[in-house]
Amino acid sequence: MNLEHINALKALLSTSKKIAIVPHKNPDGDAIGSTLALCHYLNSKNHKAVIVSPNDFPKFLKWMPGNEAILNFEKENSQSKKALEEADIVFTLDFNHLGRVGQMTKTLEGLDTTFVMVDHHQQPSDYAEIMYSDVNMSSTCEMVYNLISYLGDLDSINKDMANCIYTGIMTDTGSFKFKATTSNTHRVIADLMDRGAEGTEIHHRIYDTNSPSRLHLLGCALKNMVILEEFNTAYITLSQAELDKYNYEKGDTEGFVNYGLTLEGIRFAVIFIENKEEGILKISFRSVGDFSVNEFARNHFDGGGHTNAAGGRSEKSISETTTYFKSLLPKYKESLTA
Ligand code: 5GP
Ligand code: MN
Repeated sequence: MNLEHINALKALLSTSKKIAIVPHKNPDGDAIGSTLALCHYLNSKNHKAVIVSPNDFPKFLKWMPGNEAILNFEKENSQSKKALEEADIVFTLDFNHLGRVGQMTKTLEGLDTTFVMVDHHQQPSDYAEIMYSDVNMSSTCEMVYNLISYLGDLDSINKDMANCIYTGIMTDTGSFKFKATTSNTHRVIADLMDRGAEGTEIHHRIYDTNSPSRLHLLGCALKNMVILEEFNTAYITLSQAELDKYNYEKGDTEGFVNYGLTLEGIRFAVIFIENKEEGILKISFRSVGDFSVNEFARNHFDGGGHTNAAGGRSEKSISETTTYFKSLLPKYKESLTA
C-alpha cells in the first residue's frame, strides 16, 4: 500500500465514522476472516462498523468471533441497504470489481460514499478512492494485518482478531502450502499466535466438520471425475439431483476441486456444480505451475481470480458446458503439457 493511500486512510479514520465492510458473494474463510478482523479493529477505534455480506456463508465458519452480527443482504435486505446507504466509508474486501457481490452490485454502484479496496486478486477495477491491491499477497487477511501495521496499531490486535486473521491466511494458503505463502506470511502467523491465535483449534473447526452426507457427496464427486490425460486435466461434475441426494449444505463442496490435482501429472483441475435456483453452473478452476486459470476463467467462463485458483459460471447445462470446456483444451495443449 503506498504512502499516499495510507495517509489518506489515516486522515479518513481520524474522526469517528459509520462504516460498512463487504466481502464477495459466497464468502470463504479469507473473506469472512478479513471482514470480521477489520470490523473488530474499527469498532475498537470508536467507529461504527458493520459487515454486509451479499449472501450466506458456510456453517464451518459460523464459530468465528462476531459472525452472528454479519448482515445477509439476501435475507436482511432493508437493514443491509440502510447500513450501506448510511456508511461514510465502504470497505470492500477480498474482491476487486463490483460484479462480485451478486444482487448487491446495483446498490454499491449507487452509493455516494468513499470506497476502500483491500484485495489480492488480479486486474482490479477502479471504483475505490483508497486502494490496497497486491496480487502477491497470500490472502486478504494477511493484508488486513499489514493495514493495521501501517496504521501503527498492531498492539490493538486481540485474540478474536488474531483468530479471524489466522483463519483466512490458513484457508487461502491451503494450510500454508500454496506458492503465495512467504516467509512474511509465517512471520505474521507467528505474531498472531503470540497475540492469542489458536492454530490447532482453528484447523479442527474448519477441517474436521464432516457430516456423513458430505463424505458421501465427496464419494459421488470422485466417482464422477473425468481424467483427460492428453491435457493433464481432470474435471468433476455435480448435478443438482446429486447434491439433493446427499443433502447438500452450503460449503459442502469446498475443496473437492483440489482432488484432481493430487493425481500425478495433472496440472489443471475443474469442478462444475449445478445450482438450479440460480440457473447456473458454478465452476472452480485450479492449476499447478504457470497455467493461468485466471485467464482461462476470464476468457471463457465470465470469471477470474488468481493464477492457480479461479472461479466462473455457465448458463448452459452440464453436458453442454463440459463439451464446450473440452473443445477449448486443444488450444491450451502446449501450456498444459510442455
Ligand atoms: P472458488 O473456486 O474457491 O470459488 O474461488 C477461487 C478464487 O477465484 C477465489 O479467490 C475467488 O474469489 C475467485 N472467484 C471465484 N469465482 C469467481 C468469479 O465468478 N469471478 C471472479 N472474478 N473471481 C472468482
Ligand atoms: Mn482471498
